[in-house]
Parts: sequence; C-alpha cells; structure tokens
Amino acid sequence: MKISALTGALKGRTDAIAVCLFEDELKSPKLSGLDRRTVSAFQKLIAASRFSGKHSETTVHFSDGAQAPVLVLQGLGSRRDFTWHRLRQSAGAVIRAAKSNEVGTLSIFSSEQFASDLSAENTARALTDAVVLGHWGFEHYKSKKKGHAVSQVSLYFGTSARQKAATAVIPQAQILAEAHNLAREYGTHPANVVTTDYLKAEAKKLARFGIKVTVLERAQLEKLGMNLILAVGQASVMPPRVIIMDYAPRAAKKTVAFVGKGLVFDNGGLNIKVAKMEEMKSDMCGAAAVLGAMHAVANLKPKQRVLGVIGACENAIGGNAFRPSDVYTAYNGKTVEIGNTDAEGRLVLADTMAYVVDKYKPNLMVDIATLTGAAKIALGNHADAVFSNSEHVSKQILDSAERAFERMWPMPLYEEYGDEMKSTTAMLNNAGKDRWGGACRAAAFLKEFVGTTPWAHIDIAPTSFPAVTNSLNPPRTANGSATKTLIELAMGA
Ligand SMILES: [Zn+2]
Repeated sequence: MKISALTGALKGRTDAIAVCLFEDELKSPKLSGLDRRTVSAFQKLIAASRFSGKHSETTVHFSDGAQAPVLVLQGLGSRRDFTWHRLRQSAGAVIRAAKSNEVGTLSIFSSEQFASDLSAENTARALTDAVVLGHWGFEHYKSKKKGHAVSQVSLYFGTSARQKAATAVIPQAQILAEAHNLAREYGTHPANVVTTDYLKAEAKKLARFGIKVTVLERAQLEKLGMNLILAVGQASVMPPRVIIMDYAPRAAKKTVAFVGKGLVFDNGGLNIKVAKMEEMKSDMCGAAAVLGAMHAVANLKPKQRVLGVIGACENAIGGNAFRPSDVYTAYNGKTVEIGNTDAEGRLVLADTMAYVVDKYKPNLMVDIATLTGAAKIALGNHADAVFSNSEHVSKQILDSAERAFERMWPMPLYEEYGDEMKSTTAMLNNAGKDRWGGACRAAAFLKEFVGTTPWAHIDIAPTSFPAVTNSLNPPRTANGSATKTLIELAMGA
C-alpha cells in the first residue's frame, strides 16, 4: 500500500473519497478541497442518510456526479471526546469500507475537516497506522479472499507546512504498522504451522539484513544448565530452543534486549487446561512481537544494539512430561519447585532472561509474554500490564506505548508478591498458593532472574488474542500487542 500526504484540492483520479466529521459540526461541514458537485453530494448524503456523526458511524454512498464513484462519511463523535484511539478506529472503519467496496485508491480528507488544531505528525502517524492495521485480514487458509486490496491512500492536509510534516513521518509509521501486522500473522497461524522450527527459520531470514542469528539447541541448553525451559519442552516432539537475533551497529553505546515468550502451543501440561485451549496457539505472541519488532529494526537501523530473544518450546503431555512437585535448577542456580505445569511461561522466560543478563549485560531488558489470565482479569481486553524494577524504565515503557498508540498500564511489584512465590521445598515455587494477584506474583517470580538489570515485564495476555473485535481487530485473530512499543523503545532511548 502506498500512503502519501497531499494538500490543496483533490488531485488526480481516486476511487473513493472519505470525509471524517465531528457530530457537533455537521450543520456546516468543512468540505474544502472538493469541487462543488462533490460538496453537494456529501451534503445531500448527510441529510438523506440521517448521518449523525457518532463515533464509529460509517455511511457509504455510490455517486456518479462527484469526483469519485464511492463516497464515505465517517463519524468522529463529539470534538470534546476526541482521542487518538477514536481517530484510529474511525480510519480503520474507512479503510474497511473501501476494501469491501472494491476500491483501489482512497483519498481521506483529514486536516481541514477535523485536525487543523492537532499535530500534523501525530495525525499522519495515527492515520497511517490505522489504514495499515484496518486493511489487514487473515485469509491464508481461505480459497476466496474477501474484498479488494487498496493500493493507494492519499491523506489530505490543510497547509503545505502540515503536508510536509506528515510526509516526514509516514514512511516510519508504515514500517511500524507493517511489523505489527507481521506479529499478527505469526500469532494467528496455527501451531502445526508456527512450530519451533518455523520460529527459527523466520529469525534466520533476518540474517540477510546483517542481523546475527544464534540458536541454542537442546544440547547447548543442557550444557548451559537451562533446565527450566528444558523441563517445559521435554514432553513435546518439537525441540525447545532459545533464538537470539543480534542487531549490533558498530558505534552502539547501549544495548536493549527484548525477550519474548514463545510457547508455540500450551495445553497446560499435566495441569491440563479445561477452557479455551484452542486459543493457545497465540501463547507465542510475545515471540511474535519480538520477531515483528526485529523486522522493523532491520529496516530502521537504530543507533543502539538491539537483541531480540525468543524462548521457544511447546508445553505438552506425555510420559516424559514435567510434573507438579518436580524441582529444577535454573540457569542462574536458583531451584524452582513446580507448583503448576500451566505456569510454564515464567519458567521459559526465567532461564532465557538469566542467560541474556549473563551473556550480554543489556542496559535495558524488556520481556513480553502472554503470561497470566490474572492480568486479563485486572485490565479486561483493553490494556496490557507493565511491571518494572525501575520507575524510570516503567515511564519509558509507558511513554513508548503511548507514542505507539498501544494501551499499557503500570502495576505494582511489592516485595510481598515475591514472598508469596517462595517454596517450602526449593528456593522458589512457580505458582502462588491461591489465585490472588496472579499477574503481580508472576512478575515477582521473573524479577528473581534479572539481577540488577533495569527491566520491565509486559504481560500482554489481556490484548494479545482479544475477545473484542472492532475496525482494527478482525475476529479470532492475534493482535500484535506490544510490537510497536518495542520498536519505539529500540528507536529511542
Ligand atoms: Zn500455561
């Protein structure tokens, strides 16, 4: 998809024109940039369709006298309630309307209509993000594709200064959104496709961009004493692996490490899951975010060193499965009693992070994981949970998330949560005694494996495979959660 910023009157041919309007400004809609006949077509459409301009209201009209055969009216709700989130939802609805009406080229009138008092950069970034995300659908296993690919989107701005500002940010915003879509692809494919072999092969594709890819196979994991990831993966026919993608520019002064949970499937182990097992193909969404982010890193070439690390394995059942009450020694020497085999993600991350800290000494480490149902109980479908051992790092994550249009919320990491992860038999137990504060306890468990490294843990269980669908999230698909936040972190700091 080609996305560009334009200014002035509508230029060239376009298959569709979209106008986004606030509900409180419908009496005298701002329709500059369009010719007289098109303005009149829009005015008639507003009256005839009883368009009210409510948030997420979309009306499509076919016209033969206007400058494009398809006219789209999109409501933005009231101006007072404006958020970037609402704008993105609206732009997602516009691109979906265009796609389902077989539109090849789309012009969105943004600036004079609603955004003249908003930052042109943010408007362009939000619209670019939303059209790329809203256009995405998962149809790999369908013989018939729905709708038609929109090949060109023109975003119109009110002045040439604003157009220039928008033009400067669109390419990067598009790279971020495409990385986000890539993570959604990984998370939505089933586990018989996205195996630990597959994740390794996808990582290796980055080698041609100068990213060094190292894979720790079972024999090396054994030699290194990474017994927690080995325990989780031991009943599966898929080999467990730690996959390391190392982007290391010569003059780099700092290293940021991203560590993704890559459970390609999680049936719970012997503590087998009793509900929603079919969604567990998405238990590698942390790894998906890391892979997606590393693609963008290869493209955007930040100044700092960026490590993308994946702990990949399957939690399965068999005579060889690890058991509740087993005790294993982690890479960092801490002994862990297994309280519940379904609390496996923290085991995989614990070994992987302890290894990354030891071997690479990053200045900042961020793990991303579909870790706990408790995080989803706390925040619902609409925000991911952030834990950190540093207030500065926590703020850095939240700022990056905001810039990335992703919703994250800070959570506590009091030492009492750590006390609740102690074992009577070993040093630690991977499950708490009861269910209270499960997301916080899981984070406290992870903290035992990061030493003094500035670190944050993002629990993406709330949004990674959302129960809600909207113009940006098709039903039954992974959400690509946290991918853009990671890229913002890689680019900034
Ligand atoms: Zn599990």
